[in-house]
Amino acid sequence: MTSFAELNALPMEQLANLTELGYLTMTPIQEAALPLILAGKDVRAQAKTGSGKTAAFGLGLLQHIDAKQFNTQSLVLCPTRELADQVANELRRLARYMPNIKILTLCGGVPFSIQRDSLIHAAHIIVATPGRLLDHLNKETVNLDALQTLVLDEADRMLDMGFADDIDQVIDYAPTQRQTLLFSATWPDAITAISQRIQRNPMTIKINSVDELPAVEQQFYEVSRNGKINLLQKLLSREQPASCVVFCNTKKDCQAVYDALSDSHQSVLVLHGDMEQRDRDQTLIQFANGSSRVLVATDVAARGLDIKSLEMVINYELSWDPEVHVHRIGRTARAGESGLAISLCAPEEAQRANALEEMLNMKLNWQPLPTGIAIIPLEATMATVCIDGGKKAKIRPGDILGALTGDMGLDGADIGKITIQPTHAYVALKQSVARHAWKQLQQGKIKGKSVKVRLLK
Ligand code: ADP
Ligand code: MG
Repeated sequence: MTSFAELNALPMEQLANLTELGYLTMTPIQEAALPLILAGKDVRAQAKTGSGKTAAFGLGLLQHIDAKQFNTQSLVLCPTRELADQVANELRRLARYMPNIKILTLCGGVPFSIQRDSLIHAAHIIVATPGRLLDHLNKETVNLDALQTLVLDEADRMLDMGFADDIDQVIDYAPTQRQTLLFSATWPDAITAISQRIQRNPMTIKINSVDELPAVEQQFYEVSRNGKINLLQKLLSREQPASCVVFCNTKKDCQAVYDALSDSHQSVLVLHGDMEQRDRDQTLIQFANGSSRVLVATDVAARGLDIKSLEMVINYELSWDPEVHVHRIGRTARAGESGLAISLCAPEEAQRANALEEMLNMKLNWQPLPTGIAIIPLEATMATVCIDGGKKAKIRPGDILGALTGDMGLDGADIGKITIQPTHAYVALKQSVARHAWKQLQQGKIKGKSVKVRLLK
């Protein structure tokens, strides 16, 4: 537990600001990375989500900014718009004591022309997704000649989303004399490769390589690759989980498992990096509000998932990385509730199973294949209606609830979670009333205005 003051590198105003933010001691990643970052070294760091990576690079890059120079001195690349917004907000909080620091986000989904106008005066710090930033660089609306610090945040996820080429092209616009920082929650080989391309003598930091094992019942089944779908169906029928995530290692498997479950009328959704941001948001909302009982996902895509009581996790294939396995199964044991984690393991995955046994220092609980189970497709209790109109149209949950329970005569007990997004709102409704409510909303009004409404599958 070290305080920020012990770094002997941050100004008093920043220390006071950190105290106000409630940052009293450094997190382990900050303790390990900040001295190196402040000393101007290239750093590549692996630490899990929520470990305080943003402040680790944020405090470093802010120290190197000269606010009197009106040029772009720091660039943070992020995989998605929400993550870029989160990082920019955290940087603004960390920079509160510094007057006249301009921090700008550049992501897709916002008209290019608006961004071009806000770039007439260069920002000191740009937080961007690689694709949109590259558009600006190609059109010369952004200039990186004065760049000092380049950060790749959630690098694994950016690679998973196919941004490697864009990142390389962005870097062609940056000076070779710079500090490059790379942060990633997992460490596939591609991370080492990109680090070698873009960093100079990087210092490597890995924090918490294997977490404490969550208190989750684990079952392992040995099954051929071809037999996995059928076993998966049987296990879902036997356990009847209210909510279950099926983890796959590849997008291809995700799609195949989803297709098979969906063909047998299971209540299922799929989530992977190839999907548009909006579809991903929508899928996460539908799953979280009970409109689907099964979600088939890759590890990186599932990172946006914030669900308190996941009943079951199924590893359709063992991960190569024991840490990822621990992370997966930990999702069912939130808030002290008990969960079940089942792993399907083909003979060719034996090496991974052995590594897991060794790393976790426990005997894997192998189970015989279940027999005599009839397949009963899972059905969701809720369905989701999507309303074209959200925060920007000043729609609040109360407006929707009021419209449904007032004029439209629905029972409050039939209405579930209401999620308001910038341009859309999502309402969970009991299956039995969803169709009726959808029709009513189409004809009725919210805040005195007609709205477009869709019933999502
Ligand atoms: P990561 O990027 O590693 O997933 P974040 O940077 O988003 O994690 O930080 C996770 C949370 O921890 C944020 O809410 C942040 O405000 C908080 N946090 C970061 N550093 C500290 C600290 N030193 N003390 C207390 N809270 C912190
Ligand atoms: Mg982060």
